[in-house]
Amino acid sequence: MLIDNHSHLVELSVLNETSRIISQASKEGRKSLLETEAKTICIEYGIPVTRFEVAKTEDEAVRLAQDIGFPTVLKIVSPDIIHKSDIGGVVIGLKNAEDVRKAYNSIMQNVKRNAPKARIVGILVQEMAPSSTEVIVGAIKDPQFGPAIMFGLGGVFVEVLKDVTFRVAPITKDDAYEMINGVKAYPLLKGYRNNAPADIEAITEILLDTSRLVTDHTEIKELDLNPIIVYEKGAKTVDARIILQ
Ligand code: ADP
Ligand code: MG
Repeated sequence: MLIDNHSHLVELSVLNETSRIISQASKEGRKSLLETEAKTICIEYGIPVTRFEVAKTEDEAVRLAQDIGFPTVLKIVSPDIIHKSDIGGVVIGLKNAEDVRKAYNSIMQNVKRNAPKARIVGILVQEMAPSSTEVIVGAIKDPQFGPAIMFGLGGVFVEVLKDVTFRVAPITKDDAYEMINGVKAYPLLKGYRNNAPADIEAITEILLDTSRLVTDHTEIKELDLNPIIVYEKGAKTVDARIILQ
C-alpha cells in the first residue's frame, strides 16, 4: 500500500515538473524551450536522452565532462538560439579536457560573432551518443485536428525526400508500427549489408510517449526530436526542441 501511494506521488510530481517548465517559459515570454528544458520533459515522459549538465565556466565544463565521460559534446544554451550548429554552437567528439577547453572557447567566440545579442545561459556538456541510424520524431499542432505525430529517418530522408508519416494524436501502438513501416526508407531500419537492424520497439515507445506528452500538454505547438540515434538495442535522443503556442 505504502509503495502504491509513493509511486502515485512520483507520478504527480512528474506531471508537475513538465507544467512548471512550460509555465516558467511562458512567464518569461519565451516561446521556445531550451534543449535542457525539452530534454527534462522528455525524461519525465520516458523518452531516452543523452546525459547532460550545464556549465557556467570553462573549468566547470571540464569537471562535468570528466564526470559524464569522454567522448563528450558541448553546445550553446541560449533562449535566442534555436538552430545551434548554424552559428557554430555545437562541437562533438571531444576526447579530453584540452578538447573541452578549446570547444568551450570556440563556441563562445562563435556566438559572440554570429549572434552577438544572444543571452547565454551556459554551455551544455553532454554524453556523446555513438553514431548509428538516425530517425526523427516530431509533433505539430494542427488548428483543426489538434496535435499530429510525425516519423521519418534522419537527414536527407526527411529534409530532401520528405519521406515521413503522420498520425493524429493520441496514437495507438498499431498506429506507431504503421508510422514506422510506412516510410519508404523502412528497409534501412530492418538492417542491410553490414548495418544491424534498428530497435523498432524503442522507436515505437518514443512515438507513444511523444503522443502522450503533446496530448497532455496542449500548449505545445511544435516538438522535434532530431536526431534520435537508434541502436540494435535502445535509442537516444541527442537534440530536442519544443515550441510553445
Ligand atoms: P541543432 O540545434 O543545430 O539542431 P544539435 O543538437 O542537433 O543542434 O546538434 C547538431 C548535430 O550534432 C546533430 O544533428 C547530431 O548529428 C550531432 N550531435 C549533437 N549532439 C550529439 C550527441 N550528444 N551525441 C552524438 N551526436 C550529437
Ligand atoms: Mg538538431
